[in-house]
Order: sequence, then C-alpha cells, then structure tokens
Amino acid sequence: MSFEKLGLIKPLLGAIKELGYEHPTLIQKRAIPLVLAKSDIFATAQTGTGKTAAFALPILQKLRNTTADENRTIRAVILSPTRELSIQIHEDVKNYSKHMSLTSAILVGGKDIEAQQRMLKTGIDIVIGTPGRFMELMDKGLDITNIEVFVVDEADRMLDMGFSKEIRRIHLQLPRRHQTLLFSATYSDKVRKLSKQILTKPAFIET
Ligand code: AMP
Repeated sequence: MSFEKLGLIKPLLGAIKELGYEHPTLIQKRAIPLVLAKSDIFATAQTGTGKTAAFALPILQKLRNTTADENRTIRAVILSPTRELSIQIHEDVKNYSKHMSLTSAILVGGKDIEAQQRMLKTGIDIVIGTPGRFMELMDKGLDITNIEVFVVDEADRMLDMGFSKEIRRIHLQLPRRHQTLLFSATYSDKVRKLSKQILTKPAFIET
C-alpha cells in the first residue's frame, strides 16, 4: 500500500517523500480515506504510530483551496493537551504543507492573547492549541463560523487534565456542518462518553 493509493494530492505526496516516509502506517491507511470521505472518526492510537499525519494529511487536502489572506478565517482546529504537543503537531503540519499555501498557528496559554488575536487577523487556516486558550479567544469574538474540521487529539489525557467542559463548550459553538476527529490512546468510559457527545455516526478505528 502506498500514499498515492490513499488518494493524496501531489503537494502532499512530495512533502511525504522529502520526509522519507515510504509507506503509510496502519492508522494512516485506515484514517486518511475516511477523513477525506468526510466521516467523523473515533480512533484509538498510541503516540508513535503516525497518528498526527493520519489526521493532518487529509485535513490539508480538504482545505487545499485557499482565498486571499484578508478573507481567510479558521477552517480547522486541532486541540491538544499541552503546549509541547501543540508545538510538535504544528511542526508536522508545517512540514506536510510546505508545498501548499495553507497557513497555521499555535494558540497556547502563557502567551500574549492580544498578539495572538492580531496574528489570527492575518489569515490563518489551521490552529493548533490547548482548549483553555482557544475558548478564551472564542469568548473574545474569534470568528469560528467557517470551521470545517475539529480534532481532539489525546482525548484521554485532555479529560484527565479536566478539559471536558472546555471541549464540549467549543464543540457546541462550531457550525452545524463540520467533521470531528477524536484520537485517544485508551478507550476509557470518560472518552466513550465524550465521543457520544461530540461525534456523529463515527467510524471506529482501533490500532
Ligand atoms: P506520531 O505518532 O504522529 O507522533 O508520529 C511518530 C513519528 O513517526 C513522527 O516522527 C513522524 O514524523 C513519523 N511518521 C509518521 N508517519 C510515518 C510514515 N508513514 N513513515 C515513517 N515515519 C512516519
């Protein structure tokens, strides 16, 4: 099985090749076609399995058509439990999108929120960040009306850290038509409960 067979477009295939990835991992083989087909996803996958590319590659493909910078608003949100993980996901997104004109940014706490608001006005397609800071920006009027994809990464860790309310509040304010992808290392009762609250007819992927 090759990345070409998964239906990925040339700019992504080029970036993947430059990174030296030869074959998709199991989670990538299963998740990429489903995300491209607009399905919600509930995937159990450990770190190190290639799960970041499993959601980032198809998201980049879905968002490949961009508008002028001044008209851009956020179209994908990736929530992660920590600043370090957000930085890692952002690095991966930048690597995968290097041959595309998509823009991405990190939103984590502890940084000047007004600087983040100004940066978002420059036209950002994809944001990666922790739930608390994203909710704060949303409460300050962040335009979320064009969000197409919502990712909850490491859901079990986020729930253990007490972010359940934030995740659900953010989800409730998203536009009605959007796709949600939930990734978790474990399949606990808490994660299952969250999945029922935020996913619509999800495809299950166990790796
Ligand atoms: P992750 O599970 O997303 O944390 O990814 C673990 C590591 O595997 C990262 O360093 C990725 O760059 C790398 N990786 C992801 N997909 C592939 C692949 N198909 N082939 C080789 N390495 C990969």
